[in-house]
Amino acid sequence: MRKKTQKKPVIAMPSALWYHHYPGLWTAFFRHLGFTVIRSGETVRKTVERAALISESEHCLPLKLHDAHLDEIVDGADVVFIPRILSTLPDHIACPKLGALPDCARAQFGDRIRIVTVDVDEDKRPLRRSLLRLGRGLGAGGRRLRSAADAALDEMRNLRNRQKAGCDPGEDEHFLILGHPYNLHDRYMSGPILSKLEALGVRWRFVDYGVRNLEPEPIRWDACSIMHDALRGLDRRRCMGVIQLSSFNCGCDSVVIGMFRDLLKEQGIPYMTLVLDENEALAGVDTRLEAFVDSIGWKNAQTRF
Ligand code: SF4
Repeated sequence: MRKKTQKKPVIAMPSALWYHHYPGLWTAFFRHLGFTVIRSGETVRKTVERAALISESEHCLPLKLHDAHLDEIVDGADVVFIPRILSTLPDHIACPKLGALPDCARAQFGDRIRIVTVDVDEDKRPLRRSLLRLGRGLGAGGRRLRSAADAALDEMRNLRNRQKAGCDPGEDEHFLILGHPYNLHDRYMSGPILSKLEALGVRWRFVDYGVRNLEPEPIRWDACSIMHDALRGLDRRRCMGVIQLSSFNCGCDSVVIGMFRDLLKEQGIPYMTLVLDENEALAGVDTRLEAFVDSIGWKNAQTRF
């Protein structure tokens, strides 16, 4: 008689917050292990409206969006995956709000779905070991689990390289766009800004989160430290300005923005910050970007040679 195989649970994941920190990784990992994965859709206006309704009003916008993305998917799956992000970089810590995500989700959605989690602490153990631990918790093992972890890490590296190549200005003059990965790669957040820059003929590139070997850093928060490291290595002849996309109520950014401003002032590189929130905070952004780009004399820069 054939042995009855148990159906694997359907795993849901919000396309928000930590999803953008580790692009492609989790989906590839679960699929290689044979799980069906469903993800929430892209952030749209309705997501933001939902976030304003269901999330804690004091949260930063990315956390509110995470709640709204969860709300969209929790009823269509068996379990939802939410990692506990403690560190994404050796010698650094993550924003403490990312360490509480599974607990917050349990408090808010625990009566609707079971939550699967794993500690991601790259200060203590490589990401691959966290994947193996997660897989074992789901009943996987052996060679299949190891190859799923390796394939997922490859997928993440490839996706990051494609993201980087998609906005590589080469040797040309450009603007650097700073921000946490979820502010940059959620196109609802960054899209209007990028479209405006492109309409102004401005080349730009995102800060690179694939960087692992940083110079000794004064900042302990991982993403902020990567941003700071990127600023220290800027070439004034190529980088015409820096634009930072921040979120209203972001505790980490509120500490580092002053440091970034001082550093860029020393280097003679113009800097502006744009703060995102759920109340159409980007209204008026066009005018601010135009003024910033004009003040730098971008058009002159195009005809200098
Ligand atoms: S770093 Fe800032 S934007 Fe990101 S989760 Fe923490 S408070 Fe929110």
